[in-house]
Amino acid sequence: MTRARRLRIWASEFLVLAVVTLVMLPIRDRLDKAHTTLIFLLVVLTGAARGGRILGFVLAGCSFLLFDVLFLEPYNSFGASKSVDWLVLVAFLAVSAIAAQMLHREQMRAEEARQRTLEVDRLAALGAEALNVVRAEDALTAIAAVIRETLKLRRCEIHTVPRDGTAAGVSEDLVAHTVLPREAGGNEVSALFIPLRVRDRTVGVLELADEHRIDLDSAQRRFLAALSYYAALAVERSRLAAEADRTEGLRAANRLKDALIASVSHDLRTPLTTIKALAHSLRNGGDERAATIEDEADRLNRLVADLLDLSQLQAGRVPLQLELNPIDDLLGALVQRVSGALGERRLLVSMDDGGELLVGRFDLGQSLRVLVNLVENAHKYAPPGTPIEVCAWRDGPQLAVSVSDRGPGVPEQERNRIFEPFYRPPNTQPDAGGVGLGLAIARRLADAQAGTLDYEPRPGGGSTFTLRLPAADVTEAPEGADDLA
Ligand code: ADP
Repeated sequence: MTRARRLRIWASEFLVLAVVTLVMLPIRDRLDKAHTTLIFLLVVLTGAARGGRILGFVLAGCSFLLFDVLFLEPYNSFGASKSVDWLVLVAFLAVSAIAAQMLHREQMRAEEARQRTLEVDRLAALGAEALNVVRAEDALTAIAAVIRETLKLRRCEIHTVPRDGTAAGVSEDLVAHTVLPREAGGNEVSALFIPLRVRDRTVGVLELADEHRIDLDSAQRRFLAALSYYAALAVERSRLAAEADRTEGLRAANRLKDALIASVSHDLRTPLTTIKALAHSLRNGGDERAATIEDEADRLNRLVADLLDLSQLQAGRVPLQLELNPIDDLLGALVQRVSGALGERRLLVSMDDGGELLVGRFDLGQSLRVLVNLVENAHKYAPPGTPIEVCAWRDGPQLAVSVSDRGPGVPEQERNRIFEPFYRPPNTQPDAGGVGLGLAIARRLADAQAGTLDYEPRPGGGSTFTLRLPAADVTEAPEGADDLA
């Protein structure tokens, strides 16, 4: 309330008191004490309601005096004649003071409720604004502006914290404190740093600075807490938006890479076939070096084919024929395919079928490819003369086929990484054949058939790779396989 308005209210209330007194004065003999008391009380309450507690008390004091001097006998002198009149006077004074005080308290409560409604309205509007803005940075600017204006501060800034936990210009320990007063240079003598948290993670810092000491009352603290939470959400949203942009960029790069690999692989295949054909005819003509050319052309051809397969597997574009197949077919085909390449090395195949037929739903050709790769790896890494063991069994809802060798095994820290494309542990034997794509393709082929491919160290030394594929119950066996039904 402005000073002039307050003065006007005081003047008008005293005028009312004067008018009421003047009106009652000529008829004071006919007036009952209760009427006079009530009329003065009305004036006091009106004054307290309009001008506040102090005006109420002053009017109560003046009314008390007027009542005593002008309306209680003997007139025009202070002090009542009868003790009962004193009682009336004291009661009047007490009632007016209490009523003025109560009125004041109710007015304060009403004002507080009004402030809170305004606060809620402002928060709701800000919340809607924060959710609606296109860019999360705009929401941060809006929130900072509202805090600055509402708390009447010189500066309010929101710093975002990078993933490693420090905000630009704000050190780690400041972030860790809830509220930190700081003496700053220049005009600002007080600053507060409030960490912005989302799900127990600090995502930013709210910095408040002012020329005066920043002391917040409980309502302002509540308001700040709510806005800090909005700010934390906006920071998190802006981070997620940036991440989404980055992911979209990576996805586009990935699509480009797949397209590039597909086209390069296709274009390489034709010249490779020509090189191989020419080397072959040179070799037939007696040129020994042609064998090396032919081998290298084969190796490049395999690499190109692997690259193409990997990129198609990653894009989910490998056609699969998921059919019911007995495991015997898979193991039989494996023995046929690899025995030529193993030379002197023994391949021990066993089946733990418990008297039942082991049948699964898988792509025969692609599963064979996985097992061939595992056996070739075992042959590559295990010392000569040690056998390679292949074992098949039913493992709950899956069929398992393991390939074990007595090679060097895979160190613990490499066990997941060997399934990544192009990854070869640093101490891998240099070999002309592989580039680190075999296991990456094998695992993706297993995944694509709802199966798995895992590594385990073999007890007694060596490696065991286990391919698991969905098993099928024997009654589901393919038509024509009489012995399966
Ligand atoms: P490549 O054999 O062409 O290097 P792979 O993807 O088949 O590629 O294998 C990745 C790595 O896993 C190999 O470089 C090797 O270090 C390790 N590895 C695979 N199979 C075996 C195995 N049977 N014994 C030991 N290490 C193996």
